[in-house]
Amino acid sequence: MIDFNTIQRIIDTAEIVDVVQDFVNLKKRGVNYLGLCPFHNEKTPSFTVSPAKGIYKCFGCGKGGNPVNFIMEHEHLGYADALRYLAKKYHIEIVEKELSAEEIQQQNERDSLLVVTKFANSYFQEKLHKHTDGRAIGLSYFKERGFRDEIIDKFELGYSLDIRDAFTKAAIEKGYKLEFLEKAGFTIVNEQDKFDRFRGRVMFPIHSLSGNVIGFGGRVLKKDEKTAKYLNSPESEIYHKSKVLYGMFQAKTAITQSDKCYLVEGYTDVISMHQSGIENVVASSGTSLTVDQIRLIKRFTPNVTIIYDGDAAGIKASLRGIDLVLEQGMNVRVLLLPENEDPDSFAKAHSASELLAFIQKNEEDFITFKTRLLSKDTKNDPVKKANLISDIVHSISVIPDGIIRTVYIKECSTILGIDEKILYSETNKIRRRYADSESRRVTTPSDVYKVASPAVPSFVEGYYAEPQEREIIKLLLHYGNQVLYSYQEDKFDEPRHVKVAEYIIKEILNDDLEFKNLVYKQIFQEYLDGMSKDLLPESKQFIFHNDPQISKLAADLLSTTYTLSKIFKRKGALIENDELKLNQIVPETVVAYKRKILEIAQKDVSEKLHIAQENKISVEELNTIQKESMLITSAIIAISKDRGWVIIR
Ligand code: ATP
Ligand code: MN
Repeated sequence: MIDFNTIQRIIDTAEIVDVVQDFVNLKKRGVNYLGLCPFHNEKTPSFTVSPAKGIYKCFGCGKGGNPVNFIMEHEHLGYADALRYLAKKYHIEIVEKELSAEEIQQQNERDSLLVVTKFANSYFQEKLHKHTDGRAIGLSYFKERGFRDEIIDKFELGYSLDIRDAFTKAAIEKGYKLEFLEKAGFTIVNEQDKFDRFRGRVMFPIHSLSGNVIGFGGRVLKKDEKTAKYLNSPESEIYHKSKVLYGMFQAKTAITQSDKCYLVEGYTDVISMHQSGIENVVASSGTSLTVDQIRLIKRFTPNVTIIYDGDAAGIKASLRGIDLVLEQGMNVRVLLLPENEDPDSFAKAHSASELLAFIQKNEEDFITFKTRLLSKDTKNDPVKKANLISDIVHSISVIPDGIIRTVYIKECSTILGIDEKILYSETNKIRRRYADSESRRVTTPSDVYKVASPAVPSFVEGYYAEPQEREIIKLLLHYGNQVLYSYQEDKFDEPRHVKVAEYIIKEILNDDLEFKNLVYKQIFQEYLDGMSKDLLPESKQFIFHNDPQISKLAADLLSTTYTLSKIFKRKGALIENDELKLNQIVPETVVAYKRKILEIAQKDVSEKLHIAQENKISVEELNTIQKESMLITSAIIAISKDRGWVIIR
């Protein structure tokens, strides 16, 4: 438990921009900051941070809140752990009592895995530094590799003893459950017995962005062994290999500052480069890059330089994978090291300034690099050359920015000795084919919409409009899960389908409105929770809800087919089919709710004005009321003009 005063101190100290900036690259825009939302995939930033209000808000996916909410959401932590995270960040001391075996059991799975992994990390480090074998075998290996003490500490390197079940035993003695030791990948359990996965290996902990240890890589030390040189933690609830980049936790500040990220192959490359002074470096750990990993980098910088070994046989095989990076709109460069060098050896043999000078001199833009590399083997073979051209054209065609595509086409035309026009028309052909197959997947409705109704001033949030609240709940229950509209930000994006519930939730939250009827509010909240988990509730869930008030209301509202209330009946317009009119009904219901609240507020304020005129009140107070009155009136005017529907394409 964390005591109340400590919580208060944490909340007072945590600064929203500072907290968010550890994970998202923010740019100042007026009084606010703007960046790419870490909670959904987007290409144009709609994630806003307001230092004045101390909150973040994404206008794309609707997520928002204070620094504690951000950490909870982003790091998948509970409230208490989010507070602990912030306390650590701001060096606020929390006296934590040690967990008892029983409490350890009570942790939910994720937390349990994190706790076990954290224990393992300190265990392995302790063995490296304190155990005779650890020092003689593990530590001396690192020293031989040239790793200095401070870098061994910084990367929290460790050693796992060459004893069958040393770690498993130690952990169980401490009260950790075998179930979690197995799930986290430390212990292999079979019918006869159980033993450590990592034995006689030096250990490289893998951190999440916020610094939790989520997995390990272990390197074997005995040369004669048949086992793989590196062994990694298996996938688990906390460790998703395809979403993690080794070194990101240690590199993220340097990446933001230098606006650039180096990508290398593995653990020792990252560590050696750090040691030589280059800290903006991460590794994909042996596997080829995934889209999630690219997006992770992109949150900090669009500039990535891939460093290849001088003798890497795999370069050609890896080229196709780079198209993924281009597709994300990143600026990709390549650095080829001299023969027989890898980042590890090269960094060790050179100072930081030599390294940087070498990089600056030799790094090459990816498309040019690829073109040059491949055209070496095509010389006079027309078939090979044709293949090369279509390969290069494919890489160029995935680049989202038209200007950049043009620059590449010019350059490749020179290198390949091919007419620019041909490259142009080939690139466009591929883009058109791609766009066609994408657009066929957009279903309802045929037009592309983007919606936003006018905002209401924040001081009206306290007013209650029961019938309108009810009307919105009715829509949620009837149609919450149906697609309201689909749109693409760019032709090459996957179309996004916005459901009725998502639209409604966004509209309500954007204006900081809140339902006053507690039953309605609860239903709204359950849709909101569902949306954040990407799993909107079905109306059945409400009919069978264990809160009798909710189940009764749901049954009530769902028992009849949806009938249009008088709010929607326009003079002379006969609306035949509700389903087809969703894209009209939904925004209009939201607007009707807002308008009603504004009208109630208006009445209230004019009453206040009335009273004010009879009783003498201060000029300031009168001013405030008049200002409120004006704001309400102009909001009513705006909302009356609005059809709720803005067609952008
Ligand atoms: P050596 O001392 O023989 O050079 P190494 O530990 O440097 O061994 P390499 O075989 O040179 O390992 O591997 C190149 C890079 O890839 C290193 O940074 C290494 O840490 C990393 N690596 C190798 N295998 C894996 C793996 N299975 N998972 C993650 N990273 C790996
Ligand atoms: Mn090596």
